[in-house]
Amino acid sequence: MKELVVLSGKGGTGKTSVSGALAYLLGKNALLGDCDVDASNLHLVTGAKNTISEDFFSGCIAEINNLKCTNCGRCANICRFNAIEYINNTYVINPMHCEGCGYCYEICPKEAIILNPGHTGYLKVSETRFGSTLVHASLNIGAENSGKLVSRVREKLNQIADDSNANLIITDGSPGIGCPVIATITGASHILIVTEPGMSALHDMERLIKLAQAFKISVSCIINKYDIENDLTKNIEEYLKQNNIPLWGKLPYNDVFRIAVSDLKTAPELNHELINKEFKKIVEFVKNKLL
Ligand code: SF4
Ligand code: SF4
Repeated sequence: MKELVVLSGKGGTGKTSVSGALAYLLGKNALLGDCDVDASNLHLVTGAKNTISEDFFSGCIAEINNLKCTNCGRCANICRFNAIEYINNTYVINPMHCEGCGYCYEICPKEAIILNPGHTGYLKVSETRFGSTLVHASLNIGAENSGKLVSRVREKLNQIADDSNANLIITDGSPGIGCPVIATITGASHILIVTEPGMSALHDMERLIKLAQAFKISVSCIINKYDIENDLTKNIEEYLKQNNIPLWGKLPYNDVFRIAVSDLKTAPELNHELINKEFKKIVEFVKNKLL
């Protein structure tokens, strides 16, 4: 099954609005993924009801066995993350500060330190109100290794795809070009970049295009809020033309997007004629490219 990944250079560009709109317009034909595990919200706009929630473990968190500990203080002295505190005459490890490096475990003369698997989040499967299945995740506050959790989301998506009646995976990626994005696009069929007319957005879009090219993944683009800065929109269009990147759509700045988010809906559900016309055009591009 082919997979379309929706990306943007930074948050707030309209990536999830586009992913939500595609989810609504494709309905049961799409299997959905939300790989923005640091701040996932596709489940909110699609009204997804959670059916499966699995614990996700990554790395280690140290813990002191106070029955064995002799309060020598060596572990607290060497922990460069200041995760080991002396409270009420006892050494304790603050799990929020522990990076799981294992140094304290190695140097404790009494073998009083245990390295437990670190619980860093949840992998979830939910059913949207459009009849489609959504695989998403949530990373615990302060937890790391979001790239590994993204890989787990994609693994689950591929497992479900084998038994699904859907014929396309639509994945909402995380912003930027870091580790979670690399984990999201590996093996994807096509990347849809959502950009907006701004110097930083243009720069971010160029970096995403270079990333897609490095991974040999085809790419296309949508310009959101294209009418707030016409000269910059022209610059983006010119850049896309010079680099043979298809422009699949231009969405105007409109209150519909804000209202949709505050009503926990997708933009096309608000039936704005111009915006729905543009989204329908984008869906046709998606179908022609990937179905
Ligand atoms: S190094 Fe071991 S024995 Fe010493 S304070 Fe730490 S846990 Fe206790
Ligand atoms: S595992 Fe590393 S970070 Fe965690 S308490 Fe021990 S020394 Fe500090």
